[in-house]
Amino acid sequence: MNVPVLTIVVPCYNEEEVLFETTKQLGSMLSSLIMEQLASSESNILYVDDGSHDKTWTIIEDLTHKYHYIKGLKLSRNFGHQKALLAGLEKAEKKADCVISIDADLQDDISVIRDFMVKYFEGNDIVYGVRKSRDTDSFFKKATAQGFYRFMNKIGVKIIYNHADYRLLSKRALRELLLFREQNLFLRGIVSLIGLKTTEVYYDRKDRFAGVSKYPLKKMLAFAFDGITSFSVIPIRIITIMGFISFFISGLAGIYALVVKFMGHAESGWTSIIISIWFIGGLLLMSVGLIGEYIGKIYEETKHRPRYSIETDLYSKESNRDKSLIKTGSN
Ligand code: UDP
Ligand code: MG
Repeated sequence: MNVPVLTIVVPCYNEEEVLFETTKQLGSMLSSLIMEQLASSESNILYVDDGSHDKTWTIIEDLTHKYHYIKGLKLSRNFGHQKALLAGLEKAEKKADCVISIDADLQDDISVIRDFMVKYFEGNDIVYGVRKSRDTDSFFKKATAQGFYRFMNKIGVKIIYNHADYRLLSKRALRELLLFREQNLFLRGIVSLIGLKTTEVYYDRKDRFAGVSKYPLKKMLAFAFDGITSFSVIPIRIITIMGFISFFISGLAGIYALVVKFMGHAESGWTSIIISIWFIGGLLLMSVGLIGEYIGKIYEETKHRPRYSIETDLYSKESNRDKSLIKTGSN
């Protein structure tokens, strides 16, 4: 295998305090990879400025002048971590043979980047960085994150436990990822839909090097909600099921109300009110759920996700695992 061009994509939002240190550490990591012939000398670090309000972009610009291996991309405003990362990945896809995404704050142990590359050389298309423990997280963050992963797995979204967005993607995995054209981005969910040869590398997560978390509770909740609603129509289905249950109960309530009435215990008017409340309630909920089911279908369709991906093609002539790009089914 030729020595691959590696691009390390780093989304940055108000990260002026960490950028110099990050550049120092990632830079020396990159040069040792180049020395070991694990990455080509054209490899680089791509900072994506996600509409920062501080000096982040000025610093990035300076760094690009100072070091040839530093590249910068500036988004027009704050789009959020996921979109910033995607923008960087999309840029990187043009030149890189593989990409690694990592946060700017050095919470993820960069020494495992070497392991990522080794795994890449072993033929893996996706290498997940997985945290061994969450000791440095607050109790609240730990509990909410764990609850979230569990819930996501329950509703059928396969995401890797304790994996954030620290991972390596080969060019072919990256191309597959870029075929998912949805607006609601939840990258770690999509990456697990790609398939291909995948492995994990474990590391310890540290404290933020400097600055504060750019993920306040509000952003975290929005992120979780995006994750759930962009991968599952189960919440809608729950409404439909509740509608059916309530409709069924309306039948029972009806019988009960009639029995009470004929036994002569009922206040006048009570029976009809009880029956209609349950009946109409059930009917409404069921209808909303049914409409929701259709909206759910439309929603699935409008995403224009690829319907299948081919890893190896033994039908077409030029098929060759290393050479061929993955062909994807049209919509
Ligand atoms: N980030 C971003 N846009 C945002 C929020 C965060 O690009 O709107 C970047 C941020 O600069 C960092 C990464 O996403 O590189 C993860 O953010 P942070 O470390 O604050 O999240 P936490 O580790 O607290 O979950
Ligand atoms: Mg962080």
